[in-house]
Amino acid sequence: MIHTILSGMRPSGDLHIGNYLGALKNWVALQNSGQYRSYFMIADLHAMSEKFDPRKLPERVKSLAIDYLACGLDPDKSTIFIQSHIWEQPYLNWIFATLIPIAELERMHQFKEKASEYQHINAGLFTYPILQAADILIYKADTVPVGEDQVQHVELTRVIAKKFNNAFGMTFPEPQALLTPTPRVMSLTEPASKMSKSKGEKNYIALSDEPETIRKKIRSAVTDTQIKGEMSPGVKNLFTLLEAFTSNRKIYTDLLTSCTAGTLKYQDLKETLAEEIIKTLAPIQEKRANLEAHPEQLAEILAAGTEAARKVASATFQEVRAKTGLQ
Ligand code: AMP
Repeated sequence: MIHTILSGMRPSGDLHIGNYLGALKNWVALQNSGQYRSYFMIADLHAMSEKFDPRKLPERVKSLAIDYLACGLDPDKSTIFIQSHIWEQPYLNWIFATLIPIAELERMHQFKEKASEYQHINAGLFTYPILQAADILIYKADTVPVGEDQVQHVELTRVIAKKFNNAFGMTFPEPQALLTPTPRVMSLTEPASKMSKSKGEKNYIALSDEPETIRKKIRSAVTDTQIKGEMSPGVKNLFTLLEAFTSNRKIYTDLLTSCTAGTLKYQDLKETLAEEIIKTLAPIQEKRANLEAHPEQLAEILAAGTEAARKVASATFQEVRAKTGLQ
């Protein structure tokens, strides 16, 4: 049986290595496995739920599409499109909004976390997971490769699918989140919380960071909140990153052994890690530069993606209209 994947990212700033290790790298592997019908979208409507600059949004959308391709998404194997181009998704969002109790949305960790950061919370931030459910279910995706922070939203998608199926007849699968071995990459500056675009540039390594910037950021990563006999959260994060980025496992195990023996110099760990990240990102950055030089190619890829996505979305939408009695 061919499974269907849908996932997306918000065009809300630089992609960082948390996005890469938590999601994008896995998207490419899943796409290449040949076992999935794959849809990857640029979640521009979701980006609007937080402060954004309308003048920068078009560039950010393009830049994210370039990141997708530079990391290995292939338009011959996956449907790559912009969320707002498929109007059936926000339409389905409305139908789902009529099914889901407010209390279910109030439980969402991401909403609670963001609500505590902002003075004014817009309704879009609150209903964010309903639109996400519409994005996923309109393609009848059963697999959603995301980072850990999105697991609760995928659970809510299952609740919504179940409610719709119970009310109007079997229509949607109940999708599962698919995590990577690094589902939650931590911040370099505050290693107790996740790496995030919103915490400032020093807390993350962007996929587009220059080698010297990467060295600098890793050099100043927090390591020193050591609890006796236990690896501190900062050091643990650096080891997690090293394990994910190095293709030579011995490099990782040697450093880990000296850490356990108490002889590790954090400087050695940091220098090694920085070079491994630089090595991994170099071909991605090179591909990015090529894609930037050919904007017409990008426009064609996105137009073809929209067309392919719309065929599926519109079929589901007609089915939903018929089942819900809309004329
Ligand atoms: P967003 O930046 O919220 O649009 O997230 C895009 C994708 O990256 C989602 O699948 C997130 O779960 C994932 N992601 C974001 N931050 C991290 C992180 N620090 N570690 C692992 N995955 C992450």
